[in-house]
Amino acid sequence: MSLGEPRLSDGPTGVRGPTFTGGIAADAGFVGLVERIRRVPKVLLHDHLDGGLRPSTVIELADAVGYPDLPTTDAAELGRWFVESADSGSLVRYLQTFDHTIAVLQTPAALHRVAAEAAADLAADGVVYAEVRFAPEQHLLAGLSLDEVVEAVVAGFADGAATEAGGGRPIVVRTLLTAMRHAARSLEIAELTMRWRDRGVVGFDIAGAEAGNPPTRHLDAFQYVARENGHVTIHAGEAFGLPSIWEAIQWCGADRLGHGVRIVDDIAVSPDDDAPPVIGRLAGYVRDTRVPLELCPSSNVQTGAAVSIAQHPLGLLADLAFRVTVNTDNRLMSGTSLSREIALSAQAFGWGWPDVRRMSVNAMKSAFLPFDERLAVIEDVLKSAYAPLVGTPLLD
Ligand SMILES: [Zn+2]
Repeated sequence: MSLGEPRLSDGPTGVRGPTFTGGIAADAGFVGLVERIRRVPKVLLHDHLDGGLRPSTVIELADAVGYPDLPTTDAAELGRWFVESADSGSLVRYLQTFDHTIAVLQTPAALHRVAAEAAADLAADGVVYAEVRFAPEQHLLAGLSLDEVVEAVVAGFADGAATEAGGGRPIVVRTLLTAMRHAARSLEIAELTMRWRDRGVVGFDIAGAEAGNPPTRHLDAFQYVARENGHVTIHAGEAFGLPSIWEAIQWCGADRLGHGVRIVDDIAVSPDDDAPPVIGRLAGYVRDTRVPLELCPSSNVQTGAAVSIAQHPLGLLADLAFRVTVNTDNRLMSGTSLSREIALSAQAFGWGWPDVRRMSVNAMKSAFLPFDERLAVIEDVLKSAYAPLVGTPLLD
């Protein structure tokens, strides 16, 4: 992420509004673009609960539990600290920023509050359906059981969504349970996922440092979910390349790829732009079978998975008709929102409203909801909202 880009952080009401860092003012055109996109219904598939706290909430929760290690207790400064610390270009250092958010998320009340606030913040951003993920095994330090952790989060999402619906901003939030790929609890988390499948949990994931922890290390967990007819998404092809993507799909049966951005390594683009790109067998499989890619532009730049937003493979993959979706990953660490990620993408790749609609429809098609529920959102919510916009300009 370049320093001159506008960033979003907590406004005084807790609703995310534009702030600027890096000494270069954001142009009004970009702010207007984000606002236009905020007003249309959108769908989010890749967002981490522990990466989406409001800075002010981190400070209040730290105070409540006596956590002394926050770098600052000023909300604006803390928001900037998370973004700058996550800007290191290394996935491992990026992940270290989570030490603080995990530390304050160890009680049912904290988990419930942060889940409810996530639902509120996403609804305020115009998200109508979201799958938010987290790793229950990271929230056991104060003695909670895995089931108690999930219970608090699921209730927080439901209560937050109910409040938003009452205020005229309906949102559905479902939960994905993540196992940490360096740990050894993945089968247990897979079983937890299936135990909660009819109570708001819709899928299983693994996350954490990718190098040295290939998906096949957790094959028994993925095979268990498959035997139970459950859904799987796997963080793969972020810090590590094609072998990780290949294992995730062909060995572990991933329905979707968390990031999957390095699939571009299997696409040869002619330097003179004359010849069409040559798509390799793995990339061809991903495209042919419509494997959804949960791309997260700002996060990918921060961790070094992409060089810049302008050079992010999202543009090429969208042009080549891969099933691409745009996501936030960690709103706190990237100082972002889904509207902002789509606005950055639209600006970089010259997108219009049909492209924004395509990202929302692609994401809804790829959600881990029952087919009839997905179809209802596409037909009743998305199509009618975008119909009057298609044909009008998105960019200034
Ligand atoms: Zn992620």
